[in-house]
Amino acid sequence: KVAKAKVVSMIKAVPDFPKPGIVFRDITTLVEHPEGLDLTTDIIAAYYAARGAQLDAVVGCEARGFIWGATLARQLGVGLIVLRKKGKLPRETISRDYSLEYGSASLECHVDSITPGMRVVLVDDLLATGGTMAASVALVRELGADVVGTAFISDLPALGGRAKLEGDGIDVFSIVAFD
Ligand code: IMP
Repeated sequence: KVAKAKVVSMIKAVPDFPKPGIVFRDITTLVEHPEGLDLTTDIIAAYYAARGAQLDAVVGCEARGFIWGATLARQLGVGLIVLRKKGKLPRETISRDYSLEYGSASLECHVDSITPGMRVVLVDDLLATGGTMAASVALVRELGADVVGTAFISDLPALGGRAKLEGDGIDVFSIVAFD
């Protein structure tokens, strides 16, 4: 509880970004805090440790998912697979288009990054409508990954992402939720 309150205090609410009426949850202030990354990484790692999860890799979603993707992979002693926006990955890829709260985008994964049966956790900074994570899960599943769960620093349950993912049988862990 104390740790959670600390995480909340490190996330800055920015009104009217990227457009009027939207309160953007800015996690860059959390990363700038000397304890922010360690604290949040430890909380996520502890969640999977408590469940005795056997993991083969962490999958990070561009771009802020790379921050925790890296720290979480290191903490769990596994590798990091990166999902990138269209056109960035050099080897053979598969891709998924998805719609975002503020537009649409496409994510790609290297085909040879995942071997069938690989047990993975996907991580991103924030869960809103769930479009980004649903596309990410679909991508790695298409390559045969076994999705153990999805992890976020924060989620906005009012936007329906958690319900959408859980409705599809996907485990969702988030440190803090904002109304
Ligand atoms: P979703 O696809 O609607 O769930 O949106 C999640 C994606 O948009 C994540 O990759 C987030 O980084 C980004 N995002 C949406 N809203 C916010 C916000 O308020 N703060 C930080 N990132 C956000």
